Amino acid sequence: MIKKQIAILGSTGSIGTQALQVIEEHPDKYEAYILTANNRVEELIAQARKFMPEAVVIANESKYPRLKEALADLPIKVYAGEEALCQIVAEKPVDMVLTAMVGYAGLKPTINAIRARKTIALANKETLVVAGELINDLARMNRTSILPVDSEHSAVFQCLAGENGNAIEKVILTASGGPFRTFTHEQLKTVTKEQALHHPNWEMGAKITIDSASMMNKGFEVIEAKWLFGVRPDQIEVVVHPQSVIHSMVQFEDGAVKAQLGMPDMRLPIQYAFSYPDRLHASFPRLDFTKCTELTFEQPDTTRFRNLALAYEALHRSGNMPCIVNAANEVCVAAFLHDRISFLGMSDVIEKTMERVSFISKPTYEDYVATDAEARRVAESVING
Ligand code: NDP
Ligand code: MG
Repeated sequence: MIKKQIAILGSTGSIGTQALQVIEEHPDKYEAYILTANNRVEELIAQARKFMPEAVVIANESKYPRLKEALADLPIKVYAGEEALCQIVAEKPVDMVLTAMVGYAGLKPTINAIRARKTIALANKETLVVAGELINDLARMNRTSILPVDSEHSAVFQCLAGENGNAIEKVILTASGGPFRTFTHEQLKTVTKEQALHHPNWEMGAKITIDSASMMNKGFEVIEAKWLFGVRPDQIEVVVHPQSVIHSMVQFEDGAVKAQLGMPDMRLPIQYAFSYPDRLHASFPRLDFTKCTELTFEQPDTTRFRNLALAYEALHRSGNMPCIVNAANEVCVAAFLHDRISFLGMSDVIEKTMERVSFISKPTYEDYVATDAEARRVAESVING
C-alpha cells in the first residue's frame, strides 16, 4: 500500500504533535514527509530523529546551524527561513499539507500548497479568516480540497457526509465558553494571562487559548464556517455548550439536526482529515455516557465577549475587514501575553483598528499583505496610546 505523504507545518505545536500521534497510530498509511517549526529547534530535532522525514524546515534562520549539526548523521534535508517553508509544500511527493502553524504566517504557504494542487488539512483558521474568498477561488481553480481540522468544522463536515448537497438551513457551532464563561464584566476587567491560559476542556497553543477565552476564536470559526460550507452569516449560529461533547451541528431544510459527539480530543478531527472519506480505527479514549450525564446550552453573551460581535461585524462588512480584525487580534494577544494590555482592552484596540485602517471591498493578495501590515501598525499605535 502506498503511504500518504504528509507535510506538517508547525509540527512542534499542539496540533502538530497530535498529528504525529495519529501518524504513529497508522504507520502503514501515513508518513511525515516534511516537519517544520519556528523556534523550538530541540523538539524538531527529536521529531526528525523519530519520524525520519525527507526534510525539515526551521522558520527562524538563527536556529539553522543547530538543526543542521544535530541531523548531520541522517539523510534528512535541512532548510531555514520563511521562504523555504513557503516553497517546500510544493515538493512533488507531498500528498497532503496539514497547516498547523499559528496566525497570518500560515497564509502564504497555504496558497503555495493549493497552487501545487496539494490537499489541505486546514487547522490554521486564520488563513480563511484573512482571505477566505481568495483561498476558495484558488482551491476551485486548482481542483484541490480543503478539509477542516478545527473540531467544530470537522463536526459539521462529518454531519454533511452522505447528504449529497442537501441544503443546509443552519450551521450551529458549539463553544465551550472558555474559562471566563460565568465571569461578570467587572471580574473580566482584572483577569490575568495565567487565568486566560487555563482552558477548561482543551490543551492548545497559547494564541488560540487566549482567543478561546475572549471568544475571538468562536468569531473566527464563524468566518471559517462561511468559507468552508458556503453559508450566509445569518445561517451560522453559536451556542455555548460548556461540556464540549457536541462538537457542532447542522440543521437541514426539513428541521432535522445532526450533531457529532465525542471526547474533546483533536486527534479525531486530525485523523478524519487524513483518512477522509474513510474512518479508521483509533485507540483514543471514548465518550462514556455513564460519566457524561448532562449536556447544557446557553446563549453567547456578546456584551461581555465583544470580540464575537466584532468578528460578526467584520464578516458582514466583508472585504479586508476580517483581515484587519485578525491582524489587530494577533497584536493584542501578543500584547496581553506580555502584560502590555488588559483582557477587555483587546476589544477596544480591535474596534479602533477596524475604524482606522483603509477599507477595501475586493482585496487582492497584495491588498491583504498591505492591510495586515497597516492593521498591525495601527493596533500597536493604539496600544501605545
Ligand atoms: P501552537 O502554538 O501550539 O503551535 C504552533 C506551531 O506553528 C508550532 O510548531 C510553531 O513553531 C509554529 N509556528 C508559529 N509561528 C510560526 C511562524 N511565524 N512561522 C512558522 N512556524 C510557526 O499552536 P496550535 O497547534 O494550538 O495551533 C495551530 C493552528 O491550529 C492555529 O491556527 C490554531 O488556531 C489552529 N487550531 C488549533 C487547535 C488546538 O487544539 N490546538 C484547535 C483548532 C484549531 P514553534 O514550536 O517552534 O514555536
Ligand atoms: Mg475550534
